[in-house]
Amino acid sequence: MPQHLSPQSEVDAASANALDVSRRTLVPKGSCWYCEKPVGDIRRFCGKACATAFEEEKEFHQAAIAQQDPGRK
Ligand SMILES: [Zn+2]
Repeated sequence: MPQHLSPQSEVDAASANALDVSRRTLVPKGSCWYCEKPVGDIRRFCGKACATAFEEEKEFHQAAIAQQDPGRK
C-alpha cells in the first residue's frame, strides 16, 4: 500500500471535492491534460472545468470501451 504523500495538496485541495482518486494518478507535464494550455510544473489542469471535463471524457471512453456502445452517454 502506497504512503499518502501529497506535496501538492494545496493545488489538489482547491478542486478535490468533485474529483475522484483517479485524477491524482496523472503526472503533471507542464500543460493542461485537457486543453494543453501551459500551466505550472505541479499542475495538471488549467482549471476545475478542464479537470472535470477530462474525468467525464475519460469515464465516457472507458464506458464505451467496456460496453462497446458509444452511442449512449
Ligand atoms: Zn485546460
